[in-house]
Amino acid sequence: MRIAFLGLGIMGRPMASNLVKAGHEVCVWNRTARQHVDGAKTAVSPADAARDADVVWMCVADTPAVERVMFGADGVEQALHEGMIVVDSSTISPSATVKFAERIAAKGVQWVDAPVTGSKIGADNGQLIFIVGGTPEAVEYLQPLFKAMGKSVIHVGDTSKGQAAKICMNLQIAMIYEGFAEGLTLARKLGVEPQKMVELVQASMIRSGVVDYKAPFVLRHDYSPNFPLRLMHKDIHLLLDTAKEVRVKLPALETVDEIYELSSEEGWDDLDYAATIQLLEKWSGLSK
Ligand code: NAP
Repeated sequence: MRIAFLGLGIMGRPMASNLVKAGHEVCVWNRTARQHVDGAKTAVSPADAARDADVVWMCVADTPAVERVMFGADGVEQALHEGMIVVDSSTISPSATVKFAERIAAKGVQWVDAPVTGSKIGADNGQLIFIVGGTPEAVEYLQPLFKAMGKSVIHVGDTSKGQAAKICMNLQIAMIYEGFAEGLTLARKLGVEPQKMVELVQASMIRSGVVDYKAPFVLRHDYSPNFPLRLMHKDIHLLLDTAKEVRVKLPALETVDEIYELSSEEGWDDLDYAATIQLLEKWSGLSK
């Protein structure tokens, strides 16, 4: 298949590379630096990348980035052609997704939202889980591409339902991590070895994939970005805004948002979101 891949960040670069490795004809575009992917062509704009593509696949930062890539002056919209499918693996607003999909439907193009979970390690290893909204036909057509980049596809429902499920999942990731971070910090203050606390958590009914992934990093104080704090913070705002649209209150998430605001003020936006534990350590006098 001919694929335009737009956005070569932490997630997009290995995803594009895995499409090349699976034998697809890939043309990449990235807004600024590091625009090359081995085995792929490089385009000068999103429209240039999309011109001959069967499928346009995006993985960019946020809702404004998707809007720019799709509908900016040199955006994909300029190159839409009947039968093409646009797939969005960025995590963005469900309601904006509906509007974007309606806008391209007028040109006979389907929108499939396919945000991912699995983080950097999942993207690197082709082990992502795709959380998908779109027609069953489009999802079926995309199977070889999902397979090249991931291990499974959860087809949630119509367009935008993938984004809806994804942000609700991230709500829980943010909370599970903060629960772990608070428990670990208090345990340390009470004289419990962090390694022992992790061992207990993972042996018990509160074990979690979040702790599996994050504990090794936290134990060695390595906050290099797998999922940057600025992106989790973006998702928290997406959640709070989306909840407001449908009149749902999320009091615990509002508190977690304050922790992210303060972490951002500390200058930790480009660290992993696991870095939020450093605030707790600071407040409790545990940090050096
Ligand atoms: P990233 O490393 O920060 O990459 C972001 C990408 O978006 C870059 O290619 C960046 O281009 C591009 N971009 C940002 N603003 C743009 C704009 N206004 N116009 C055009 N391009 C723009 O982020 P990532 O970790 O790959 O995440 C990408 C998406 O996947 C996000 O929505 C994120 O929430 C989601 N996600 C990430 C993870 C994870 O663990 N990292 C897991 C699941 C989902 P430049 O290179 O020019 O800045």
